[in-house]
Amino acid sequence: MTIQTGKKYKVYIDGKWTESIGSEYGKVINPAAEEVMAEISLCGEADVDKAVEAAGNAFKTWKNTTPKERSLILLTLADAVEENIDRFALLESQNVGKPIAAAKSDVQGFIDILRFYAGAARNLQGLSTGEYLENHTSMIRREPVGVVASITPWNYPLAMAGWKIGPALAAGNTVVLKPSELTPLTTLLLAEISEGILPPGVLNVITGYGEVAGAALSAHQKVHMISLTGSVRAGMSVAREAAQTLKKVHLELGGKAPVLIFDDADISKAAAGIKTGGFYNSGQDCTAAARVYVSEKIYDQFLEELVTTVRNIKVGDPMEPGVEMGPLVSKAHRDRVHGFVERAKKNPGVQVLTGGEKINQRGFYYKPTIITGVKQSDEIVQEEVFGPVVTVIPFSDDKEAIEMANDCNYALAASVWTKNIDRAMDMTKQLEFGAVWTNTHLTIVSEMPHGGSKLSGYGNDQSIYSLEEYTNIKHAMVKFN
Ligand code: NAD
Repeated sequence: MTIQTGKKYKVYIDGKWTESIGSEYGKVINPAAEEVMAEISLCGEADVDKAVEAAGNAFKTWKNTTPKERSLILLTLADAVEENIDRFALLESQNVGKPIAAAKSDVQGFIDILRFYAGAARNLQGLSTGEYLENHTSMIRREPVGVVASITPWNYPLAMAGWKIGPALAAGNTVVLKPSELTPLTTLLLAEISEGILPPGVLNVITGYGEVAGAALSAHQKVHMISLTGSVRAGMSVAREAAQTLKKVHLELGGKAPVLIFDDADISKAAAGIKTGGFYNSGQDCTAAARVYVSEKIYDQFLEELVTTVRNIKVGDPMEPGVEMGPLVSKAHRDRVHGFVERAKKNPGVQVLTGGEKINQRGFYYKPTIITGVKQSDEIVQEEVFGPVVTVIPFSDDKEAIEMANDCNYALAASVWTKNIDRAMDMTKQLEFGAVWTNTHLTIVSEMPHGGSKLSGYGNDQSIYSLEEYTNIKHAMVKFN
């Protein structure tokens, strides 16, 4: 079933829907049906100027609201999204191609993060410190940064919007939000739902290409902080542009998560964990279980279980109940994923145990794929494929497992599968990643941070740490007597 909105979207600036200045439009495609769902404005520099100006004006009032006032407004927004949960889930499922249950879970995640930050707003604290000079009292104030630009990717559009606007608004900043040009529709619906809840200019939503609208936000003098979730290429560009004005930069970029399966692991739970970790959202996840390393003692047995599990993944129309994996987001992205597999196959010894090809039907579908016989240095092991493709390599001992896991330029997440708590704790300590899971993969909670290092970027989403990153600290000193 396909429901197309057929709508031509304006942009949302200062609480009003306005025509973009160039009046150019781009098409938004449903990747399962390969049909146009809607048209969006392709904003340029002049639209960015307008949105930033609106956010700057709104900041003058919003920054003086109390934490309690902001908290109540965020709770009202969360309730309004919850009242429309089915509308959001349907639109997200159709625009991204994700199964409807997964889309609903993303909307629930958005609601939860807003509620978390509504509470956190009231717990954000400066410090009352002491006297460091005689008769001088010092205090630390936490204050909002100002106008924040938030740029989000196509894989979890609404959820990522929540990770960005939740802490930014809770801390007293105003926001210009730019979703991915491929999947902007739930973010535009969010703007619609926010009307009458958020004061005009507090949340502005503009659409368009990253290289144009995103670059203009990155370089803008009056944007004081920019937060991007996206590719390394975009992250580097944002950091370069942002350097012109030395604004704060927060980057959540790619990943290539290793999964270490030891000989004492529960084999069927580990295989099920990779099914979820590697193939949820069609593997289009920055923490996807992409590089599996298995103890050679259980390698054959594990591989058999994994291949059977992966072959049973139900791929199909995201709207059909029971479907576990939908299409990839676009034709270009599916071609890119297939390109990685084709190049990997040219290396001697490489075997595609299952998948490795497009599904011949309407929609940008790709078969869940398991590849063995690869070397640690191969492109498919080192680069982010961002699709339903998992490589499996055996290891001989814990030391080799750790070396291969850490031997990668990405450092976002990793998982360890073992029943031995000593080994789990040792691995957790030695793995150089922003998150290390034991006996689970891909599991996130609003209370805990999400962020990486190396090419995965810097800064954290979720948790109180993120809220703090959306503030500046100020030293206030009072001399008495
Ligand atoms: P992308 O970099 O192509 O686009 C992300 C966003 O950045 C889009 O809104 C895009 O318009 C914008 N953009 C692109 N080029 C830009 C530029 N030069 N200046 C400013 N903005 C620009 O990424 P994508 O393909 O939408 O998403 C996939 C990538 O996102 C993957 O690499 C994935 O790992 C990463 N990701 C990371 C996380 C995380 O939390 N670390 C979460 C989800 C996705």
